[in-house]
Amino acid sequence: MSKKNAEAILLRLHELYPQTECTLDIDDNVFHLVVRAVLSAQCTDVRVNEVTKVLFEKHPDYMDFLEAGEEKIGRIIKPCGFWKAKSHYLYEIARMMRDDFDGKVPTTQEELMRFPGVGRKVANLIVSEMFGTPAVVVDTHCMRVSGRLGLSSGKDPLTIEKELMKILPKEEWAPFGHRMVDHGRTVCNARSPKCEECGLLDLCPTGKKKVKHG
Ligand code: SF4
Repeated sequence: MSKKNAEAILLRLHELYPQTECTLDIDDNVFHLVVRAVLSAQCTDVRVNEVTKVLFEKHPDYMDFLEAGEEKIGRIIKPCGFWKAKSHYLYEIARMMRDDFDGKVPTTQEELMRFPGVGRKVANLIVSEMFGTPAVVVDTHCMRVSGRLGLSSGKDPLTIEKELMKILPKEEWAPFGHRMVDHGRTVCNARSPKCEECGLLDLCPTGKKKVKHG
């Protein structure tokens, strides 16, 4: 994919989704976004936002998580699924904040990825949303849609992230990820992409092929 084609796609995405943002709730507490991102594995952002409203009302910060313990946290986060593993991760994250990071969430991807339940996708989300470090968040929507659009050809998130970083301007990295989620959820679904009504059809090799061959 040439930079010129990528620019055309980027421009169109701006037209189609002028306002875009992270679909997980964000407040001014970095720990809260870490918790929401960990809970969002195999769970919808809508449910995570609902559950964490209750969770943070009862246990607003990492010290409260340590005081409450895994059991209590687990009972509240149960609707998010995999609650035993997730409550263990959250407790450990709170403990590491206390013991290793001076009560703060670390600011680099490398340090964040020392937390259990935090992979590159979550680390990129935290640094780009909370610390102003440009990063592409490659989730399942971004992988699928950027592949179909011909913006990436890699099969794993890290390769795709590197490909996208090469062709997108830095200031677009974070919003591009959000727009991939917008488009993937509304039009370019995993099973049945709505190519005929897609605003990117004229720029999309996969869509053109699909429409041509029926
Ligand atoms: S044309 Fe089809 S495959 Fe391409 S982005 Fe649109 S919905 Fe997805």
